[in-house]
Amino acid sequence: MPKQTVRDIEVSGRKVLVRVDFNVPQTESGEVSDDRRIRGAIPTLVNILERGGSLILVSHLGRPTGDPAADAPFRMDKPAERLASLLGKKVVKVGDTVGPEAVAACSSLAPGGIVMLENVRFNKGEKKGDVEFAKKMAALADCYVNDAFGTCHRDEASMVAVPEQFAHDRRAIGFLVEKELNILATLLGEPRHPYVAVMGGAKVSDKIGVIENLVKKVDKLLIGGAMTYTFLSAMGHSIGKSKVESDKLEMARALMHSAGDKLVLPSDHLVASAPEAGAETKVVVGPDIPDGWFGMDIGPRTAAEYDALIQSAAVVIWNGPMGKFETKDFAAGTKAVAQSLARSPGITAIGGGESAEAIEKFGLADKVSHVSTGGGAFLESLEGKRFNSLGVIPDKV
Ligand code: ADP
Ligand code: MG
Repeated sequence: MPKQTVRDIEVSGRKVLVRVDFNVPQTESGEVSDDRRIRGAIPTLVNILERGGSLILVSHLGRPTGDPAADAPFRMDKPAERLASLLGKKVVKVGDTVGPEAVAACSSLAPGGIVMLENVRFNKGEKKGDVEFAKKMAALADCYVNDAFGTCHRDEASMVAVPEQFAHDRRAIGFLVEKELNILATLLGEPRHPYVAVMGGAKVSDKIGVIENLVKKVDKLLIGGAMTYTFLSAMGHSIGKSKVESDKLEMARALMHSAGDKLVLPSDHLVASAPEAGAETKVVVGPDIPDGWFGMDIGPRTAAEYDALIQSAAVVIWNGPMGKFETKDFAAGTKAVAQSLARSPGITAIGGGESAEAIEKFGLADKVSHVSTGGGAFLESLEGKRFNSLGVIPDKV
């Protein structure tokens, strides 16, 4: 059942507490280096303002330690400034979350006004899901909107205990969460076929749940990235010095057994004499990596084979880079897959922290149907998990 959205609740003349995910990448000096998550929340925020509501925004940023000096870069000032410039509106940033500054700013908030609270994780009550803390936060506002998809897999106070303080007709999801849930419903429902999943990344152990769940739905599961070598090793092939999870071979065998011929491994590899820029590289064809070499990327033949499958697919989901793409020498396979998705006529969805970073880096994010703003939340959704943060938002009536 679809969830009640911000469209379905009365916001006129009301103060709307919006849990956003402004946990953005930052530079050394604390500047916002990628504002995708801030831009992602704009449609919800504009909708509330245009309908006569006011905004109280709350988010976490980084991993604060509790030491105020060390935590200074995690204050919400920079994201608040970026939001102000994107909206072309004043954003009042306060220095606490539920303390006197927040209470004062929120009580004098008029329709059209915007308050950004301080980093919610500066409060111990947030991680603990503390109800007393949640009550104080809820008391600032008249209704609650969750537009923080990237945090939906967490049971923190601002995600679960805070919305629980509001009447059912005053809780909703925002448009970003709605969009993420719609694409997940497509990917996990009864999608059209052929349905192709491309999985890569660092470790097969991070993705077991996703592979197990997706294998039931997809027609092909194309493997790349470092997890390739755990599968090849499990099959008895030599993997040279490639990254491998030697304690996961049994599990890799079980996955291959259940996936049968749906699972496709690379037919060639880019190998390097060392896992770093400038090392000697060559392409090897076949399932064995020569002694002393590191498997760093899928090869060109694999990229072409995967492209053919992606072009003929009705639905494609991609998680996990095909190689160590952060180093230019090992980025070709990931770039080729990104270009394949961009060209594909089907529904194309991408999720995962580094995968989203990769498609942005290649400038192709606008050419696919959806790039998820949630790393962990996207993967856990694909595993079939249900989140408490969404359980507390009523279904649409
Ligand atoms: P995502 O965040 O998209 O889910 P992961 O976190 O699983 O992806 O993995 C991303 C990381 O995997 C990247 O930082 C990439 O450098 C690394 N990686 C992929 N292939 C290789 C490889 N062959 N050797 C070393 N690292 C790899
Ligand atoms: Mg990652």
